[in-house]
Amino acid sequence: MSTVEFTPRQRETEAITAHVLWMTTGLGCDGDSVAMTSATNPSLEDIITGAIPGMPRVVVHNPVIAYEQGEDFMRAWFAAERGELDPFVLILEGSLGNEKINGAGHWSGLGTDPSTGQPITTNAWIDRLAPKAAAVVAVGTCATYGGIPAMAGNATGAMGLRDYLGWRWTSKAGIPIVNIPGCPAQPDNMTEMLVHLVFALAGMAPVPELDDAGRPTSLFGRTAHESCNRAAFYESGNFATEYGSDHRCLVKLGCKGPVVKCNVPLRGWQSGMGGCPNVGGICMACTMPGFPDKYMPFMEEAGNARISSAIARFTYGPILRWGRSIEMRRRYDKEPEWRHNRAELTTGYSKRW
Ligand code: SF4
Ligand code: SF4
Repeated sequence: MSTVEFTPRQRETEAITAHVLWMTTGLGCDGDSVAMTSATNPSLEDIITGAIPGMPRVVVHNPVIAYEQGEDFMRAWFAAERGELDPFVLILEGSLGNEKINGAGHWSGLGTDPSTGQPITTNAWIDRLAPKAAAVVAVGTCATYGGIPAMAGNATGAMGLRDYLGWRWTSKAGIPIVNIPGCPAQPDNMTEMLVHLVFALAGMAPVPELDDAGRPTSLFGRTAHESCNRAAFYESGNFATEYGSDHRCLVKLGCKGPVVKCNVPLRGWQSGMGGCPNVGGICMACTMPGFPDKYMPFMEEAGNARISSAIARFTYGPILRWGRSIEMRRRYDKEPEWRHNRAELTTGYSKRW
């Protein structure tokens, strides 16, 4: 350990070990776990190697990246149930099937109960561990709001974690369930919020502020549209007419960005690169509680967008475009006249001594 302390109480907080029990056995695809491995700000490696000064030691138990397998991997889960891992953050990935309607089987499970030899359902693990967790996090839109497995017509009665535990549920540390939606969740959104929570549990950061949908306002305070580098084209009524055509606004191709809370157009996907509408793919609203049903069909222009885009296109949009281009051509696209190589100074400089 360094002899210099970069943060207050650095040695004290670095001596804490916080476990992260990351359950991938909801009804999901492990896409959030895979996405998390491409985080860079901070990276997963930064977190587990303790690269951030003052951060408690973090041990991540996630089956996608774990060395342990089978019974060895399950040891941490049973230890947490016995109260031997404290503090720990419980993370759920994937939605929860309704086990009250599972018939003779179960929808999803993790490990087997040693006393019965029967699978332990994911829901049972939530019942066992959530009351003991310092903080509970739902990552990805399946775990937060149900997502694709909870579409109309599904057989499992799938739901998000807040639907299961209750929207007012709080952890023993008094923290509501933190929702980090996205399909998958943006990598840095996950690692940044994980670090924030671990610092909050160590008393070195405030508890994250959440909106009504349980999302951190620091990450989900703006719409995709408000963060999109094509928004100026929308304002001036200038819309792309086919995929890949150019850099104009994609709303006529089905982009739902104006009614979606998401920071991906601003943050990019990995190291600031990539994204969705900012790089040419329509926003399908994958972070939203109403995803996917309320935004389908994805590739059709939404009704509200049709009205506002028509207004922008046929009223003020062309006037704005015309006025700005005239102004630019006449005035701003030209250097001031005092920049020249003649034998005289015409900058307006006056000698003061
Ligand atoms: S591409 Fe989508 S998010 Fe971007 S400006 Fe157009 S409607 Fe808004
Ligand atoms: S911009 Fe839209 S589609 Fe892309 S991650 Fe955000 S909500 Fe999902």
